[in-house]
Amino acid sequence: MTVALNIILLGAPGSGKGTQAEQLCKQLELVHIATGDIFRENLKNKTTLGELAQSYMNLGKLVPDDVTANMVKDRLAEPDVKNGFVLDGFPRTLPQAHALMDIMTKLNNKIKAVIYINVPDEEIVERLSGRRICRSCQKPYHVMFSRPAKEGVCDSCGGELYQRDDDNPTTVRARLSTYHNQTAPLVDYYKKIGILVEIEGQGAVAEVTERTLAAARRIAAQS
Ligand code: AMP
Repeated sequence: MTVALNIILLGAPGSGKGTQAEQLCKQLELVHIATGDIFRENLKNKTTLGELAQSYMNLGKLVPDDVTANMVKDRLAEPDVKNGFVLDGFPRTLPQAHALMDIMTKLNNKIKAVIYINVPDEEIVERLSGRRICRSCQKPYHVMFSRPAKEGVCDSCGGELYQRDDDNPTTVRARLSTYHNQTAPLVDYYKKIGILVEIEGQGAVAEVTERTLAAARRIAAQS
């Protein structure tokens, strides 16, 4: 079986998964699947899924595994993912990792590698509190480190920039604690399976992008 470049980006909230996923997808023509974006889209459209997700998101908690895994299962069954995808924000728990394994087996497909972006907690808090997101295309910015050319306006699509409800200090702390308790164990899980590639997530965005792309190209070169 030839395995498409199916990659998981793993890391704490604010570690740069969204930014790096966007670059990987652009450069390597992969499809970006971000569970947080799908939930926010549902929230915007006031769907039942969106309303359910909101109660967890506002508290910095995870949406239940079965709900999230079913949503990902449906997304991965769509035809556009067949040439490779980047999963951003999923899996976030061991049961989700197991569910993903099942989903991929049923689709006769495989995860090729997990790129883990390692960033210390102190930096995460600083990054998230200054983060701004484009309402239209979800591109992330930062009030100090990654400003748009025109204040409040997305460079890529002209959309309005906003601060996510869950990027306030209380929810950020809750999200970090959720990450350490439930998501961080996935680092060891994928290390044991032998598909984890760790990259240093500190430094200029362009440098981290270079590391991420280099890792993805090495992964792609392995048959
Ligand atoms: P993110 O945009 O990835 O930071 O996700 C925002 C929020 O959406 C998280 O804090 C969770 O409440 C929810 N969420 C996103 N992905 C997942 C997931 N894989 N499992 C459970 N909840 C998720």
